[in-house]
Amino acid sequence: MGEVRPGRCPACGAAGRPAGARLGLHGHGWRERHQWGPAERDDAAAVFGLLLRRYRCQRCGSVVVVGPRGLLRRRLYSAGAVALALALYGLAALPPAEVRRRVSPLRIVGVTAAAGWASLRRWSRAVCAGRLFPVVRQLPADATLRQVAARAATTLAAYAPSSGGLAVESAAFLGASM
Ligand SMILES: [Zn+2]
Repeated sequence: MGEVRPGRCPACGAAGRPAGARLGLHGHGWRERHQWGPAERDDAAAVFGLLLRRYRCQRCGSVVVVGPRGLLRRRLYSAGAVALALALYGLAALPPAEVRRRVSPLRIVGVTAAAGWASLRRWSRAVCAGRLFPVVRQLPADATLRQVAARAATTLAAYAPSSGGLAVESAAFLGASM
């Protein structure tokens, strides 16, 4: 698993594996995380358990957790799942309940959640504020959440390795997972 060791400590900048030195980033166990959403863009949504490698910086003591691409910090859903949801909401203009059915692994929906989907509004607001997918250009302050979602989806779709012939929501899923 040495290949995933970060090149530098993100806190102090110490080299991850300096030649011939005892300093650097040393393996420090594992952390389990769950990731929600479809594994591939056409799959049913599910909950996945991931084991993330932890490293400890021998210089400053920081613990660095290394995860796969497409993992969003402090969010349950994968980047691809969020992008897919934003595309279905913003571009395909599906009702939030239908977006939820496609992207959420939860099958039991509360009464309040049945009408909308709080996660969708939260993600759109986070994009608007630059806290999620900061590559998305800012929209005017009066933009609707659907417009924000649409721009996020088209922006992320442009990052897909090959978008030729792909539906835009599939391209957004792939682009966000890069
Ligand atoms: Zn450090």
